[in-house]
Amino acid sequence: MSAAGAGAGPVDGGRASPRMHAVVSGAGVAGLALAGRLALDGWSVEVVERAAAPRASGYLVDFFGPGFDAAERMGLLPGLRARAESFEELRSVDAVGRVRARLPISLVERAVQGRSLTILRPQIVAALSEALPGAVRMRWGTQVEAVHDDGTAAHVLLSDGERVAADLLVGEDGVGSRVRQLVWGPARGFVRPLGELTAVAWIGDDGRLHDDLGGKVAMQLEQDRQLVVAPLGETEVTGFAVLRGVGAADARGAIRGMGALGRRAVQGVRDPYVDAVAQTVVEPWVRGRVVLLGDACAAVSLLAGQGASLAIAGAERLAEELAFARHPSDVTAGLAAFERDWRPVIEREQARGRRAQATFAPHTRLEVEAQRAVWRAAALPGVAHLVARAAGGITKPR
Ligand SMILES: Cc1cc2nc3c(=O)[nH]c(=O)nc-3n(C[C@H](O)[C@H](O)[C@H](O)COP(=O)(O)OP(=O)(O)OC[C@H]3O[C@@H](n4cnc5c(N)ncnc54)[C@H](O)[C@@H]3O)c2cc1C
Repeated sequence: MSAAGAGAGPVDGGRASPRMHAVVSGAGVAGLALAGRLALDGWSVEVVERAAAPRASGYLVDFFGPGFDAAERMGLLPGLRARAESFEELRSVDAVGRVRARLPISLVERAVQGRSLTILRPQIVAALSEALPGAVRMRWGTQVEAVHDDGTAAHVLLSDGERVAADLLVGEDGVGSRVRQLVWGPARGFVRPLGELTAVAWIGDDGRLHDDLGGKVAMQLEQDRQLVVAPLGETEVTGFAVLRGVGAADARGAIRGMGALGRRAVQGVRDPYVDAVAQTVVEPWVRGRVVLLGDACAAVSLLAGQGASLAIAGAERLAEELAFARHPSDVTAGLAAFERDWRPVIEREQARGRRAQATFAPHTRLEVEAQRAVWRAAALPGVAHLVARAAGGITKPR
């Protein structure tokens, strides 16, 4: 039983049960969603996060699907809605800046019956943090250094020297997961790049471009490239590009080379996120009383446009399996049930993410033209609804 979490806990059928203790590695989307839900179910929870504080910068996330439904059930929607961005229109533009097609966002919203949000990742984290029960212990600037599972507890050594005995250790520390490295071994084979795609996302201050966008999201599709630029707040602009066959060092030049929008978009870029587009595949997700969740084991890639959504939905599903755990054997049984139920969902979404490569960055001019035709058709009343529904998200149109 845990050192930190020992003591009488929830009463189960009139019998006082020991309180279960979880260590969560990673205060990201999955980590905070799980920590909050486990704490509400009576667990004692501590979250260790390598960063010294929540990261302020981030990219725009289209939030819909299973995570939206889960967030609603967990009472998180009001906090997320309050922090969401709103745009008037999605515009398809060409290399010289001409508008080739328009899709009113109201149509997208109607097509998905309002069950979609566009929100900055740090704002999702802020909403989840705000909803955390006060009893959850946050340990910033800390990470897991070693883990030993003796069959009754996971003994976790933290970087500040403290040792914690936990009923459950959850690795929700992203694609490069520390817990995965420690318990499953080095990253080789777990992280699977999708083709030669590089993602670049950034936020920059550019009042003129912000005003010229006028509340609209601009999207440009070319062979092997997609660029999306959107206004934020009073003067900021956020951009997102997927590039095939371009290394991180050449990403800025490649975006500039896309023409009018690209040239303007890369001005004022600060703190860009640049990474290979990849999925993670880990089998199994569970080892003893250690489990992985979110991008650590099941990244679908930004092409699926569902990573944050699945992180929250997965957290809810895992917490449900563990809600009534009172003994170590309940925990291992709950983890097994979670993996059995949730893995098929992830595998389906990962397959969808791989299929989306061609729409995000079309391989041929023919594919580019076919997609442009779809966007032009979006101007027609009946078709607009279909395009809007297929697009699902606003900043990752497909
Ligand atoms: C450019 C881009 C666009 C995207 N767009 C979308 C979208 O439109 N829709 C969508 O649903 N998803 C989108 N995603 C995916 C989504 O952001 C992720 O799938 C989601 O954030 C995964 O949540 P997570 O909690 O697993 O990981 P993260 O949210 O990445 O959190 C991991 C946390 O672990 C911490 N950490 C790392 N190492 C350690 C360590 N050693 N010890 C302790 N803590 C550690 C990190 O600091 C971080 O706080 C996008 C991703 C990218 C990169």
